[in-house]
Amino acid sequence: MDLFDSGTVRSLSVPNRAVFRPVRTRFVDDGRPTEELAAHLGARAAGGAGLVVGPAEMLVHPSASGPAFVDAYDDGTVSALTSVVDAVHDHDTKIVGQLTHTGAESRGDWEMQPQLAPSASPSDAAYEMPKTMTRDDIDEVLSGFGDAAANLDAAGFDGVELAAGPFSVLRQFLSPRYNARDDEYGGDWPARARFVNEAIDAVAGRIDGPVGLHLSLAELEYGGYGFDDVPAILDALAGFDYLSCTVGSHATYNQTHAGISAEAPELRDPIATTADAVDVPVIGRLPFTSVDDADALFDAGAEFVSFTRQLLADAETLAKADAGERPNRCIQCNQKCLEAVYGHAHGGHVECVVNPRTGRESELPALSALDDAALPQQVLVVGGGAAGLRFAAVAAERGHDVTLREASDSLGGQLGLAAQGPLAPFARASEDLAAAARDAGVTVELASLVNADSVAPSWDAVVVATGATRPETGDRFDGEVVNAFDVLEGAEVGEDVLLFDENRWVVTAQTGLELLGRGASLEMVSSDHYPAFRTEQPNLPGFVAALQAQGAAFTGNHTVDSVAEDGTVTLRNTLTGEGASREPDTVVVVGRRQADESLYLELDEQRDDVYRVGDAVSPRKLDRAYYDGELLARRL
Ligand code: SF4
Repeated sequence: MDLFDSGTVRSLSVPNRAVFRPVRTRFVDDGRPTEELAAHLGARAAGGAGLVVGPAEMLVHPSASGPAFVDAYDDGTVSALTSVVDAVHDHDTKIVGQLTHTGAESRGDWEMQPQLAPSASPSDAAYEMPKTMTRDDIDEVLSGFGDAAANLDAAGFDGVELAAGPFSVLRQFLSPRYNARDDEYGGDWPARARFVNEAIDAVAGRIDGPVGLHLSLAELEYGGYGFDDVPAILDALAGFDYLSCTVGSHATYNQTHAGISAEAPELRDPIATTADAVDVPVIGRLPFTSVDDADALFDAGAEFVSFTRQLLADAETLAKADAGERPNRCIQCNQKCLEAVYGHAHGGHVECVVNPRTGRESELPALSALDDAALPQQVLVVGGGAAGLRFAAVAAERGHDVTLREASDSLGGQLGLAAQGPLAPFARASEDLAAAARDAGVTVELASLVNADSVAPSWDAVVVATGATRPETGDRFDGEVVNAFDVLEGAEVGEDVLLFDENRWVVTAQTGLELLGRGASLEMVSSDHYPAFRTEQPNLPGFVAALQAQGAAFTGNHTVDSVAEDGTVTLRNTLTGEGASREPDTVVVVGRRQADESLYLELDEQRDDVYRVGDAVSPRKLDRAYYDGELLARRL
């Protein structure tokens, strides 16, 4: 079986076996999908997916509510949903809409509704005590599944999928963790499966196309069902035309899409067990799926393979794979794509660190569709980090003659330091950035130090991407302290280390894990509640767990007032003002970097055609480097 072979689900012909399964996007206005959502899904169809399963998590009943969900139960959504369907069908790709009721895995703040769930068993992730569903509630939600399915059918969807993965009352009915009922919907597997089967029947009776079931093969939660239960669960379920495999719940969603802070559960064997147990097509996925994983999933018995983050990182991944070209790879950072799910998205919607177009498909054309520059220019880029490389590659693709000078003897800038320990997948970013620049014809000059005097007037434009300087940590203290960035480069420390977190992001966790890996006894002091507190929500719990599992002691709400010459550290509780002292062997400070802007400021005095991008503007996270570089190259 090949990813680009056509396939069939019941009577639905699918042009290939690659499925795009989006995450929640937040492109929803008053319960209706927006044109941005249509463009987001349409871009993945244009990029070669044979089947799109989305929008994700459309609701079947007002009791499951939130600002990020499509109200599929409301027939007022049909017109907007038709636009989504058309955006996908325009590329001869099929689209199946996904329905859910979030049950215990959401909160009722938005609609002031109690959350309906099988039992009063709250999710550790949603924090709200749900209401146990009465028989009337069950009937209402079941009829909501039918009504929502009819709306999707009217909008032109090719089929409907019921979510029994994370964020799903269907999975909660199956789950011993969430379902403690003693009526006909609780107890043994056939009883716990009853609600799911009735929902499938409610949907099947209202649509012409296939009905799919998206099932967590294990909840990965204490008290939840596990992989060993899959045969019994599948034996109790009936009526679906395909089965899509996933893993986890809301509380364990960081393993559903495992990234830099969570161990990825092994899914190939459970998928093989699943494929043996059902006589319908299986859609397989891994906690992270790349095109290279397709054969292993087919070998396990899957007939289709679903992709999420890789198609966010490069919407044209499948078309490129079909043409034997190199995609821009996902780095499994979870820093932007899942932030929309967790509700802390800085842009308010789905985004991707390595692909500024993701979430902006309706305003930015695909890179492959960009017009050539109206006036090709000779451009000098100073700095070979993420911002400089992204600018250089895109500008060169548009026809500019680009030379990039990098002071060190390698490309990637801060990525070289970042890509170690749990952040090792970040190496893909520097590899792909460098490869893209090379493929676009950028002239790269390494070990080439640039100062204002060495920039010839003949350049049409100069782009300064000099990044950021290391944090200054020593001057404030009488005693010796070690910079965390030096630790990551191998600086020696004693056995007993106090780490002072002034950075608050992932580098704090990374440095802590590096020190623990060397066998250090580690106390992590932070003026936040605990160290690395500003790390993205999808990654934070995994890092905290890893640090604590290896013995790190957390001292939150404290700052370091002084480090004496003899190494004595004076701490102050930032809430109470109370003091304390420590006598570690080594103090490590994780500080904040400063923009390396001197070259830009000097050149800006001398010429009009100078720009700066990335950390040279102000040190921020990696997504901003990509964004700055690409956006400047798109308009130059
Ligand atoms: S934000 Fe990170 S994990 Fe998410 S799709 Fe982009 S590169 Fe992958």
